[in-house]
Amino acid sequence: MTDSSLTVLKGIGEKRAELLGQLGIRTVSDLLYYLPRSYRDYSKTVPVSEMQHGDYVAASVRILSDPRTVRVKGMTIVSARATDGVSNVQLSWFNQPYRRGQVSAGEIRTVCGRVSRKKGTTILNPSVYDGLPGLIPEYPLCRGLSQRNIREALKAAVQKPELFPEETLPSEIRTRHGLCALDEAFRMVHFPRDRSELERGRKRLSFENLLSYMLAVEMQRQERTKQNGFAFRTDGILEKYERKIPFALTGAQKRVATEICADMEKPFPMNRLVQGDVGSGKTAVAVFAACVAAANGKQCAILVPTAILAEQHYRVLQPLFGSSACLLTGGMKKNERAETLERLRNGSASVAVGTHALLEQDVHFQDLGLVITDEQHRFGVRQRADMERKGIRPDVIVMSATPIPRTLAMLMYGDLDVSLIDEMPPGRKTIKTSFIAESSRDKMYDYIAEEAGHGNQTYVVCPFIDPPEELEGPSATEVYQELTSRYPGVRIDLLHGRMPQQKKDEVMERFRTGETSVLVTTTVIEVGVHVDDAVIMVLEGADRFGLAQMHQLRGRVGRGSRQAYCFLLSDNRSESVHERFAALVRNSDGFKIAEEDLSQRGPGDFLGTRQHGEGDAELLRATASMEMIVEAKETAQEIIDIPNVTNNAILQNALDRFSRQMDVITMN
Ligand code: ADP
Ligand code: MG
Repeated sequence: MTDSSLTVLKGIGEKRAELLGQLGIRTVSDLLYYLPRSYRDYSKTVPVSEMQHGDYVAASVRILSDPRTVRVKGMTIVSARATDGVSNVQLSWFNQPYRRGQVSAGEIRTVCGRVSRKKGTTILNPSVYDGLPGLIPEYPLCRGLSQRNIREALKAAVQKPELFPEETLPSEIRTRHGLCALDEAFRMVHFPRDRSELERGRKRLSFENLLSYMLAVEMQRQERTKQNGFAFRTDGILEKYERKIPFALTGAQKRVATEICADMEKPFPMNRLVQGDVGSGKTAVAVFAACVAAANGKQCAILVPTAILAEQHYRVLQPLFGSSACLLTGGMKKNERAETLERLRNGSASVAVGTHALLEQDVHFQDLGLVITDEQHRFGVRQRADMERKGIRPDVIVMSATPIPRTLAMLMYGDLDVSLIDEMPPGRKTIKTSFIAESSRDKMYDYIAEEAGHGNQTYVVCPFIDPPEELEGPSATEVYQELTSRYPGVRIDLLHGRMPQQKKDEVMERFRTGETSVLVTTTVIEVGVHVDDAVIMVLEGADRFGLAQMHQLRGRVGRGSRQAYCFLLSDNRSESVHERFAALVRNSDGFKIAEEDLSQRGPGDFLGTRQHGEGDAELLRATASMEMIVEAKETAQEIIDIPNVTNNAILQNALDRFSRQMDVITMN
């Protein structure tokens, strides 16, 4: 592979190269593998009268007026009127004052952007072209880099095929699966001439990516079963545990606990995924495993994504472990932290629950025997591996509330054994979910205010913290302002991820204790936290959330005995969005929802979502089909079983791309 630094490309100096470096792009190969997050289809024009709210469209228009600049709420808005000959349309640019000179009255131009139909028809932040631009890729960006910058860099790169990485797939595999060559694929995904080219390019890269992943999983699995681990003794611990906790375990919890015991007894490391719908009681199972570790004189670390969740788990651990449980979060005082680190190092603490703070270099354990990662999708594989390295081949449990259909789980997590908690604790009522039309929104909030008077609490989740640039989509600060002025008698609080930790904790504590009735928030509350009196979940701008995410959010209510409700709000009329809502209304079982999602939309949503440092996840999501996953899995097994030098490039690719993320993979 040619690992050329980016500055060999035309137009890329030290400064640009440094910015690209922030996106993880250091070589020409990195750049070529930096794939678009999505494409805007500007290959045909849409009449103004047919434009749908939220769509991205291209329109050929005559500019009717020279642009005017106005200032609203500290924002500069440049706008101009235009017509497609039949209907008028407004063009508006937010905080881009330089756009003013871009069009002038009388010109015929092609404008491309997102449609708002809130007040008349507006195209938001349109790009202006002469003629249709076709399919335009959109890349994930960082501050200081624009779409145009990335496109220019790629344009320079495709002119230098001698710097391209080597072909990774033997021609035999390419022919068998109908895949194009690597260099062609790069051109097709970055500069597609049409949809079919784009699909061919994506298919090729998607297959390669899946194959590399499957190869890494295979190598990982082989490696793990060769390692020695600690054989725990487990007899009698489950019975003792059950006597100490305030409820009887469900059948499913007991079964999974037994599966964990069987793994822990074995002389090689456990690697188990525990899947269970929101509220199925995964914590009780995790805490049980921690008890097994402690009974064997080993330490256990429980890694969770948020401080709120860490504290919640800590409250469950304390009655069982007393002072040998400890909490480690980012917001701790210096001396408190030092004391906790000391207790972990000298072994006086047997279980630690914490956030990313647990991963830090100076956190050492005396003898870490078990690592549990809760809400595993919130962590990268690399972070989990960092945690595991703090022990010597510890047993590993990862827990997930994102139900993944079994078939898919077996394919994707080939190196994990899977346990299912497929039964809810007794007494849970299903959450009544409904879609609320914009016209009933006020009535809904009146109802919520009334319920507040009866001690019933509500979460209102918004997709944004602040009003987004284009004044589109509900934000927590706006909704908070709206509700506080409308219902002065109701105690309402605001919670979002940009608030300082201490403030967040205070807000959460007030809600938990019932002091506040309505919590306006963002997806920071997505995971794990439960408040018994919270019975209503409002999802503002629900079309912005994925199906699994909505199901997760909904699971925050209905923990107590009262009937719980989930209200979905959205001004998006697209059919696919409403199909998603319907699936949620119809089903309460996360696994059914997952199966439905899989059959409706393919496996994309389940693959590598939201894992940091996997820039190509979006492409995978868009392209992968169940058949392709199966093909990749079979091909990976063949490659591992029948060694052949022509496969070296793809094996190397698997190691390069995934070994840093997975545990140590060694080749022999
Ligand atoms: P999740 O699987 O979403 O992490 P939790 O572990 O947070 O769910 O459990 C949800 C709630 O159910 C907690 O309040 C917990 O105390 C309770 N719970 C768990 N198991 C049982 C059980 N077997 N019987 C009754 N309540 C249970
Ligand atoms: Mg949980």
